[in-house]
Amino acid sequence: MTDSTKTATTPCQICNSPNAPLYATKDGLCLYKCESCGLVYLDPMLSLESVSNLYSDAYCGTTTGYFAKADKKLRRARRLLKKIRNKASGNKFLDVGCNGGFTMEAARETGFSAHGIELDGASLDYARKNFPGNDYFQGTVQQYQTTMQFDVVYCSEVIEHVSDVNSFLSAIAQLMKPNALLYLTTPDIGHWRRPKNICEWDAFCPPSHCLYFNPSNLAKLLVSHGFDIIKVRWAWKPGIRLYAKRLA
Ligand SMILES: [Zn+2]
Repeated sequence: MTDSTKTATTPCQICNSPNAPLYATKDGLCLYKCESCGLVYLDPMLSLESVSNLYSDAYCGTTTGYFAKADKKLRRARRLLKKIRNKASGNKFLDVGCNGGFTMEAARETGFSAHGIELDGASLDYARKNFPGNDYFQGTVQQYQTTMQFDVVYCSEVIEHVSDVNSFLSAIAQLMKPNALLYLTTPDIGHWRRPKNICEWDAFCPPSHCLYFNPSNLAKLLVSHGFDIIKVRWAWKPGIRLYAKRLA
């Protein structure tokens, strides 16, 4: 049983409400749920240094495991990029958390100039070697220095890993042209098909996943950073997939 009197030491990053009660513990880590907006978050958060350690070859044997299904990943990325291409104008594409570069390569094939940011060196080595026509940066989006402004930002299964979500989204917004398109996905803790026992949910994996959103608090967060939600895709699996536009 969880200790219901225990509360978070930090306020909710979305609505700033204090004293979120304990929601769950896993491997000695504590997660709290904001009573106002429902954000579930790790507290205390990991330092940037421990996060970087977490992502040194995060996917445990990148070449043998995670990237073994390279053809399938590329095919899936091509299907999605056709949809993104139809919704976007301009040709500058940024992948925040680009992994092995599959999405960037699909973006390049549809006529984008593709740029990618990734913390994990092993993933970047793979991407640089297999998809050399793209531009890569190792680090966080907050560390990314450029004068470029992007037409599309793709950010898939990344925001749940971020310890300071406001600094993250503010950095993304600054890299986008007015009316530029954001495609974002993340697990959905509020989804009707999420296992009732949170510890049985495969996406529940602190400290790697340190923030757990539902569609309404994610929308509120994006709006607070100057985005307009265009479309939220219906999802059979407990995940949120949405398109947003950076307001002018
Ligand atoms: Zn909140």
